[in-house]
Amino acid sequence: MQSTTPTADDDDPRDESILSIRNLQTVFRTDHEHIRAVDGISLSISPGETLGIVGESGSGKSVTARSIMGLVDAPGEVLPESSIVFDGTELTELSADQYQEVRGSGVGMIFQDPLKSLNPVYTVGNQIREALRINRGITGQEATDVAIDLLEDVAIPDPERRLDEYPNEFSGGMRQRAVIAMMLACDPDVLICDEPTTALDVTIQAQIVELLQDIQAERDLAILFITHDMGVIAEISDRVNVMYAGEFVEKAPVEELFANPKHPYTQGLLDAIPGTSVDDERLNTIEGDVPTPNQPATDCRFAPRCPKAFEDCTEVHPTHVSVSDTHDHSTACLLYPEGKSRTERVEHHRSQAPADTQGGAQE
Ligand code: ADP
Ligand code: MG
Repeated sequence: MQSTTPTADDDDPRDESILSIRNLQTVFRTDHEHIRAVDGISLSISPGETLGIVGESGSGKSVTARSIMGLVDAPGEVLPESSIVFDGTELTELSADQYQEVRGSGVGMIFQDPLKSLNPVYTVGNQIREALRINRGITGQEATDVAIDLLEDVAIPDPERRLDEYPNEFSGGMRQRAVIAMMLACDPDVLICDEPTTALDVTIQAQIVELLQDIQAERDLAILFITHDMGVIAEISDRVNVMYAGEFVEKAPVEELFANPKHPYTQGLLDAIPGTSVDDERLNTIEGDVPTPNQPATDCRFAPRCPKAFEDCTEVHPTHVSVSDTHDHSTACLLYPEGKSRTERVEHHRSQAPADTQGGAQE
């Protein structure tokens, strides 16, 4: 389905979506600057669907995840213009206690490092039982039985015995499975996965992706899958949002993105798909680094690294335009809309920009 006016990074509200984010802005205030780590992104995910967010290290992916989870600590702040609606509830207006409840039962998160979620001094079984007690009120023998079932669900062999082991007795892949079991103990509707396979070797990585897909199919989970790895994105996503310096620069269904990448950044990421080095977060074929945005965008933040940049790219902030008649595919780049002259394209983007981001008062 193609959205009718994809002129901004602002998805059409979808009735069926379980998580819907509009204009999310998360800033970190330091003494001398405001870092706009997430700068006006919008997305929505439906039950049973996987939305991938891909971008280099430093593009704002983890801050996006933490913002949704209500886990941004000072000096960070989710600005009041932001909206995060989960299952009909505006999360940005919740108290700390109410947010904790959402984290317990509505939206779960798994991190790159499973040890962030596991306590080394308790057995894996005790941690799953504790999650069951807090979030579902299940205790005693029933909790043990459910914990065994959950370890079985995540394909941990010999679950009765492994319940009594400590996290350090598990391998990396098994630890991530245990964390997934702990998440499932909360029976979430949305699972946010922030680089969950990045620390694992390729074989284990593929197994975890497969496990997430199985669990998703069984439970109709909505998954937000964050990674810097285009190969993993291709495996798991239904749709993909490409993130750069706090913004989404391209959005498309996964096959469409790989077949017809439109933004020069996406094209660069695809050219840089690494062969074997899974732990290399640096992409070498796009020279330079992701900038740290500390001003409202009055330009294209990718322009300094873009092989196709022209003068206007440093002066006009591109907004999303539809780039397909058949797919819900948009990109924020002054090369589009296609088929128009450069002057017309630049004028199109200039006219869409909010008044406060128009790069000077000459307008
Ligand atoms: P990614 O997950 O895409 O690698 P992050 O979301 O972790 O990137 O970070 C995006 C940007 O947000 C970083 O470049 C950094 O400048 C800023 N940032 C993240 N956390 C903090 C913090 N606690 N204080 C200040 N700036 C931060
Ligand atoms: Mg990150």
